Amino acid sequence: HTQDFSVSTRPVHGKVGRVPVGIGRRRMRIVVTGGAGFVGSHLVDKLIGRGDEVIVIDNFFTGRKENVVHLFGNPTFELIRHDVVEPILLEVDQIYHLACPASPTNVMGTLNMLGLAKRVGARFLLTSTSEVYGDPLQHPQKETYWGNVNPIGERSCYDEGKRTAETLTMDYHRGAGVEVRIARIFNTYGPRMCLDDGRVVSNFVAQAIRKQPMTVYGDGKQTRSFQYVSDLVDGLVALMEGEHIGPFNLGNPGEFTMLELAKVVKDTIDPSATIEYKPNTADDPHMRKPDTSKAKELLNWEPKIPLREGLPLMVNDFRNRILNEDEGKGA
Ligand code: NAD
Ligand code: UDP
Ligand code: UDP
Repeated sequence: HTQDFSVSTRPVHGKVGRVPVGIGRRRMRIVVTGGAGFVGSHLVDKLIGRGDEVIVIDNFFTGRKENVVHLFGNPTFELIRHDVVEPILLEVDQIYHLACPASPTNVMGTLNMLGLAKRVGARFLLTSTSEVYGDPLQHPQKETYWGNVNPIGERSCYDEGKRTAETLTMDYHRGAGVEVRIARIFNTYGPRMCLDDGRVVSNFVAQAIRKQPMTVYGDGKQTRSFQYVSDLVDGLVALMEGEHIGPFNLGNPGEFTMLELAKVVKDTIDPSATIEYKPNTADDPHMRKPDTSKAKELLNWEPKIPLREGLPLMVNDFRNRILNEDEGKGA
């Protein structure tokens, strides 16, 4: 599936790239906002690996320098500590916009990156989310579904922020002719995931490693569909390089209840792991599963790594980080 971009004959759409990379393709200069985060840092590795120049913009709100430290000293890599809520002037070919400060500043960051894309003629990709579907009344979710979001709920700041970001993206496309792409990302896991942001995969894996019970919220029968990060990164690049605006669902259709997920974590990490029930959060979506037929047809993309194969790939990274944390505490 991995494309060999070094021999691609696709014309470069931006104005900046001038350094040759192999036959028929010039090196591009690419911004990744949020590039020190979980998904962003894996994307940066892929873009640098294929020979492009990458500028990461990150304020380290949830991201970590450790995620990109292996690139320090690489002449094709640049890191700018900057909050995307503030305007920034750069000359680039493509913008992957992953930085996602808590809404409503999410909207300001997206607006600035769209303004930048408009000024320099760069192609802009928004990482939106399956949360735009809210607590969906359609299952699985297709891109044509408009969603079921409670505008005044506890989660709505994130959901509505991303919905507004999608709106702005399409307005800049229609009004200013900016080349845009929209990805709706479903629950993604893998190495470098935040240890403590409360997401279910990171919670269960960290709990199982620490020999603590896995906290199942509610009755544990709600479902999610879990995608391994390298599949997502392949999908983001295919979307950016392709000819279709989207939105596209990028996710793995393999659907699990939280109890089933706990079982997979137990089988993978510790057969003696236990679970503990906790109250669920308000407005928690009952089920979520992407319909990925549009991405398959138009981007020739589909996820390759099922949960039982992907989960073991994040365990070593989690073990090491948890160990370092404990040593840091003098434990
Ligand atoms: P993450 O928190 O690991 O990465 C986000 C990065 O953005 C961090 O490095 C953070 O420091 C940076 N950032 C935040 N606010 C910023 C600001 N104001 N200016 C500059 N940088 C800022 O999250 P992630 O899981 O890698 O998510 C990346 C993107 O994918 C986000 O837009 C997120 O909404 C979207 N997404 C992720 C998932 C998932 O399951 N991981 C699901 C749906 C959508
Ligand atoms: N912007 C930016 N970098 C640029 C161009 C614009 O950060 O290279 C910001 C700009 O400061 C503004 C936003 O993007 O806040 C939207 O820009 P646009 O030109 O679309 O809007 P305008 O400035 O005309 O309101
Ligand atoms: N969840 C859980 N235990 C946890 C954390 C989350 O059972 O320790 C549940 C949560 O209630 C939700 C699901 O797992 O039903 C997915 O939560 P997450 O925050 O990972 O993703 P999102 O809700 O944004 O899809």
